[in-house]
Amino acid sequence: MSATIINGKEIAFQIREKLKNEIQTRAITPKLAVILAGHDPASEIYVKNKQKAAAEVGIETVLYRFEDDVNPKELEDLIDALNKDFSVNGILLQLPLPEGIDSSKILNRISPQKDVDGFHPFNMGLLMAGMNGGTVAATPKGILRLLKHAGIELAGKNALVIGRSNIVGKPMAMLLLNEDCTVSVAHSKTKDLKSLCQNADIIVSATGCLKLVQKDFIKDGAVLIDVGICRDENGKLCGDIDFEACLDKASFMTPVPGGVGPMTIAMLLENVLEAYLKQNA
Ligand code: NAD
Repeated sequence: MSATIINGKEIAFQIREKLKNEIQTRAITPKLAVILAGHDPASEIYVKNKQKAAAEVGIETVLYRFEDDVNPKELEDLIDALNKDFSVNGILLQLPLPEGIDSSKILNRISPQKDVDGFHPFNMGLLMAGMNGGTVAATPKGILRLLKHAGIELAGKNALVIGRSNIVGKPMAMLLLNEDCTVSVAHSKTKDLKSLCQNADIIVSATGCLKLVQKDFIKDGAVLIDVGICRDENGKLCGDIDFEACLDKASFMTPVPGGVGPMTIAMLLENVLEAYLKQNA
């Protein structure tokens, strides 16, 4: 058996085309404010990619740049102004913020209605309560879309989420629980990751630890979703899961790159359009 590769790049392309058509048909221009503080090289690339993808579907972006030594009060004042600005539909605060700034305090300042990343406790709370209407974080939302697109049955399945961050692990666990999976969450202090993996029908790994999930960790026919972004010994981009080794044992796998990553951007754009539509209903 060789696993079916879930082509996130292709699915994300289809979603972006659909968003583009909807924005064109409605003749609207949703607007996203992007805040970038400091000069983290990865953040610079992520922001550029998000702005490019937004422009391609017809979403306007405005970038607010700050230096590493930005005073948190400046960020708060900007967010207050953007919250009040009716022309702005979404606010994205690129993480990480420069050292010493309490990112949750700044994130929580964003109006939940403009929180297109879904990181505000109000939106996280709606997800936890299993209630519709909130914004769901882009990466876990994209993963659920991939699982559904691949036709994977979720109800009653043992799902293991590795990683417990607020942006991936925790919301992913909630989404899977809301889909009637039996969910376990593993993290850096978990004692026996292998046996948890061996019991899992679906594994979503989001740690950034190279080849954390090995072939002998997984059961036959497991569904493997790889969120991690790592570099192997040759500098090649790869994920948390030993992709080549697991190919003939898993039933479905996402590649890195070309799996979860493109879905994250597509879901962010979808969240911006949804915010626009709710604000203009
Ligand atoms: P994070 O650093 O906030 O969290 C990492 C999590 O992994 C923690 O909860 C930690 O407990 C857990 N962990 C670390 N070592 C572990 C181990 N040995 N066993 C089990 N758990 C372990 O990171 P994050 O923001 O959640 O991102 C995780 C990974 O996913 C990173 O590689 C990141 O670059 C990537 N990521 C990718 C996308 C995408 O769109 N493809 C989006 C977000 C994050």
